[in-house]
Amino acid sequence: MRQFYLCTAISLVAMFASGNMAEAQNGSVDDKVVEWRRHIHQNPELSFKENQTADYVENILKGFGNIETMRPTPTSVIGILKGKKPGKTVAFRGDMDALPIQEETGLPYASQVSGVSHACGHDAHTAMLLGTAATLSKMQDELAGTIYFIFQHAEEMYPGGAQEIIKSGVLKDVDAFFGLHVSPSLPAGVIGILPVGAASTNADGFNLTIRGKGSHGSMPHLGIDPIVTGSAIVMNLQTVVSRNISPGEMAVVTIGRFQSGNANNVIPETASLGATVRTITDSTRTLVADRIKAIVENTCRAYGAKYDLDYVFSYPAIQNSPQLVALARKAAIEALGSDWVVDAPRMTASEDFAYYKEIAPICFIILGVGDGPANHSPKFNLDEKALSNGVKVEVQIIKDYLN
Ligand SMILES: [Zn+2]
Ligand SMILES: [Zn+2]
Repeated sequence: MRQFYLCTAISLVAMFASGNMAEAQNGSVDDKVVEWRRHIHQNPELSFKENQTADYVENILKGFGNIETMRPTPTSVIGILKGKKPGKTVAFRGDMDALPIQEETGLPYASQVSGVSHACGHDAHTAMLLGTAATLSKMQDELAGTIYFIFQHAEEMYPGGAQEIIKSGVLKDVDAFFGLHVSPSLPAGVIGILPVGAASTNADGFNLTIRGKGSHGSMPHLGIDPIVTGSAIVMNLQTVVSRNISPGEMAVVTIGRFQSGNANNVIPETASLGATVRTITDSTRTLVADRIKAIVENTCRAYGAKYDLDYVFSYPAIQNSPQLVALARKAAIEALGSDWVVDAPRMTASEDFAYYKEIAPICFIILGVGDGPANHSPKFNLDEKALSNGVKVEVQIIKDYLN
């Protein structure tokens, strides 16, 4: 922390000493970013319901004077800044939705909406991207190409906002997508460069209902026991990863829910199981799903039970482009210095940013926001001093990509 204040102080001195106006103005952009973030934080809106947030963002973008706006879906906003020179098209994405979580931070600017809060930091993503747009809107003359600032709705709720915006067709000319997520896993203001290839996991899972035949517990021969069937399925599923997946390849199958019965002397009619499944490649994703389906089907058949299996393919893994990761690393070092840039391990969380790869190469990075409770905790909070670094890096990545 102390190092952060020191560096900020040094950069402020250097900024005024050099008389660089663009840098000097960044001071006020930083203040605005905090102000925007707090407004959004106090007024959180759930996925697909970001109406006021989208209006707020669109009005601010319009205020910059040279950014066109569009609403590809009712609650998403895209700002478009065209440089004075021709060139490529680059997009930076920030998500805007909050979570159905009652905030417990005790902050003076805590959520004013009961049961809804920005426990994943999307308020910061939105505010930083506005700061990035504000900064770049003053550099229009020196920009070669076009910038799309994607203020995306509904990241937190499958099928997610990214797919809707992609389907609207407005992003078809984009040549590269960048995105950033705040994380308490790194010190405030530190940029984490995620791996090339899978930067997150395919986040799938299933819900299974086993339908047996109820009976008295003392007369098991008259029933079909869904608990015994389910137990056999749980044990057989332990071989999906251990006997099918190449050692060194990452895969997880976790049965996190197994519910059945409510009396000690009754064989129940049904059992209900739920699982999460994580993989990093398409081929393993398919293989694991196929093995799970085969084990469920054949174990139920062996025990004489029927079943309903709802296998859910959710957000795919983010596949980071090697070229864009190299560019992001170089830009982050250029913007902040190498002390502020580290290699971050693959995220275990999932992100619908992954879908933008259907259009063009993508790169996702993380911004440390200081030690604290994890994303989605009711006590999740962030050190706002990190936001300035986030804006600097976003601006540098966009400039480096275009010029
Ligand atoms: Zn989240
Ligand atoms: Zn998030």
